[in-house]
Amino acid sequence: MQRRHVLVLEDEPRIVEVLESYLRDGGFETTLCGTVAEAFAALHRSEPDVMILDVSLPDGSGLDVLRETRSSGSLLPAIVLTALGEESDRIVGLELGADDYVTKPFSPRELLARVRALLRRVDERSAARDGGGKALRIGELEIDLIAADARIAGKPANLTATEFRILGILAGNPGEVFTRAELLDRLQDGGKIYERTLDRHINNLRGKIERDSRDPAYVLTVYGVGYKLKKP
Ligand code: CA
Repeated sequence: MQRRHVLVLEDEPRIVEVLESYLRDGGFETTLCGTVAEAFAALHRSEPDVMILDVSLPDGSGLDVLRETRSSGSLLPAIVLTALGEESDRIVGLELGADDYVTKPFSPRELLARVRALLRRVDERSAARDGGGKALRIGELEIDLIAADARIAGKPANLTATEFRILGILAGNPGEVFTRAELLDRLQDGGKIYERTLDRHINNLRGKIERDSRDPAYVLTVYGVGYKLKKP
């Protein structure tokens, strides 16, 4: 998988340092900007996958960057860093079209989880868009990514949220193998899903959509690698 690129607009060196090391260890590329002007210059050069915007900067506010990108029609995912007690920043940020906000002081692990959750939502939205928003149909299995609904042979599959998310990730690229590490990575919200749990979710998912879980027709095991969804 290609490395995702995060633009960090923040002027406090200690926060920048911690964020950079967490993002790097999390497999992200980073562009670090300490001023609004630098952020605009960086956005001019290349478009990141997500921006983390502090509100209080020497030459303005990250909200200015957000306002500018949104008014140019860009939906570039953005997380706003707001100070404790500054409710108005949070409200303005959300009104301007921020996708999420994190209040300072924050845990870098939590911020990393928010970045991943946001990218996952964006990926799922674009996968749904690529499918024309229609249900993906593979044999008797129908997956509606927008309604988060799956049916098998015309009947609701009654998947749990996690089971649907696993199916949704696989359905983003039917026929492509997702490693277990990749699946786990994309399922993390607060670091609560472990490898054994993933296998259990997959087994339960198969129990609901496969005629024979031991010889699955949809969610296929690629031995030694991971899982894939059968191509339509
Ligand atoms: Ca600041």
